[in-house]
Amino acid sequence: MALRIAIVGCGPAGLSSAVALHDAGFSVTLYERFEAPHPVGSGLMLQPTGLAVLEWLGLRQQVELSGQRINGMLGKTVSSNKTVLDIKYTVLPGDLYGVAIHRATLFHVLHEAVKARNIHINTDWDVGACHHDKSTVSLSDVHDQKISAQYDLIVDASGRQSKLVALAELKTRSRPLDYGALWSTVRLGDHGFSKQLLEQRYRAASIMAGVLPCGQLPGQQDALATLFWSIKSADYDQTVARGIDALKHDICKIWPAVEPLLQQITDFSQLSFAQYSHHTLKKPYSQRIAFIGDAAHATSPQLGQGANMALLDAKALTAALTHAQTIDAALQDYARLRRMHVRLFQAASLSLTPLYQSDSVVFPWIRDTFFQPVSKLPFAARLMTSLGAGTLAQPVQKISAYEAKHSATRK
Ligand SMILES: Cc1cc2nc3c(=O)[nH]c(=O)nc-3n(C[C@H](O)[C@H](O)[C@H](O)COP(=O)(O)OP(=O)(O)OC[C@H]3O[C@@H](n4cnc5c(N)ncnc54)[C@H](O)[C@@H]3O)c2cc1C
Repeated sequence: MALRIAIVGCGPAGLSSAVALHDAGFSVTLYERFEAPHPVGSGLMLQPTGLAVLEWLGLRQQVELSGQRINGMLGKTVSSNKTVLDIKYTVLPGDLYGVAIHRATLFHVLHEAVKARNIHINTDWDVGACHHDKSTVSLSDVHDQKISAQYDLIVDASGRQSKLVALAELKTRSRPLDYGALWSTVRLGDHGFSKQLLEQRYRAASIMAGVLPCGQLPGQQDALATLFWSIKSADYDQTVARGIDALKHDICKIWPAVEPLLQQITDFSQLSFAQYSHHTLKKPYSQRIAFIGDAAHATSPQLGQGANMALLDAKALTAALTHAQTIDAALQDYARLRRMHVRLFQAASLSLTPLYQSDSVVFPWIRDTFFQPVSKLPFAARLMTSLGAGTLAQPVQKISAYEAKHSATRK
């Protein structure tokens, strides 16, 4: 199929799908609401799943060069110094690892790849609706200004607050989440933090602090770390009102080792607040529109899978559009390729988040009592690690098998 495709959003989902679809021979145009596309937020973890997609796109090496290889994730309680999160990629077969990367760096790599392919980005376009016209579809912005170009397919990669999802009236499973987090990027320096470990500290489940070494910003040399601190969304205003010193004091109280990192933060403007939400579309497509990334499924970053799922969606959609006979068949194949993995990880995230971020006393007690004995069982350790690594349900292999089957049929 020779298709004209409009992609809404220049986040990881939009930019990676633009590269993948362009390389598969489709004509692609991007729309972004900001005047200049730019990343928001701090570091994130790329898992073996997301790295496999970046390898397909020919971008893995660049990402690894500026990101930070992560070999494991370690979480301890403050009160008893008990380990209640311990993920080591080495328990899984194959040379698997994660790569932590600053969002600006991931954005830079994907954006450069888009520019190198001369894919056009229409900036300052806050897409508000799409319009069907016999066999084509077009877009309009939030002021009802219509874009004259007609497309065969819209890919909505506009994130968790997608306006097109709301208009498509698709069935959604959604749950409110009380907690969010304050994030900041600091220089990692030499203060005793391992470069290859994501570390977290918890007091019950209502307090969580974390340090994620995340490599360098484009063109810079300093090794950075993302520092995060969970708070309830409802407490945000009060936290700001108490002032930055009171917040730093709270963090140091539960984790004194982060003090040298906190010294670099002197003002709330160095922190960004991320509010979490959870929703999963039952069917990630509607007539001539595919939903990918957070537009299709968003959750708390407790499992650190969102960007990886966005990359997998981009690859699966490209494979389906390349091999299926019609757009409708391709959209169904895309949904089938991603269904099991998305449902599993959305459900896991929803059920595990209360163990690490909630007001509950029961959930952290369960975590603190059972994590250590259970994690000593080899089967349980592998299961937990493949949950952390995103490899459970084999999403990469599923897409490869689909491509292999269809390529063989063609020959
Ligand atoms: C604090 C935090 C930590 C996280 N940590 C991790 C992690 O460690 N690992 C991981 O894999 N994931 C992590 N995630 C999740 C990850 O950031 C998201 O899942 C990922 O960014 C989703 O990518 P996306 O492209 O679908 O959406 P987004 O990144 O939200 O991008 C959407 C893009 O669409 C644009 N847009 C929005 N509306 C419109 C419109 N109407 N018209 C045009 N353009 C529009 C936006 O400006 C933006 O550029 C984290 C999330 C948060 C909040």
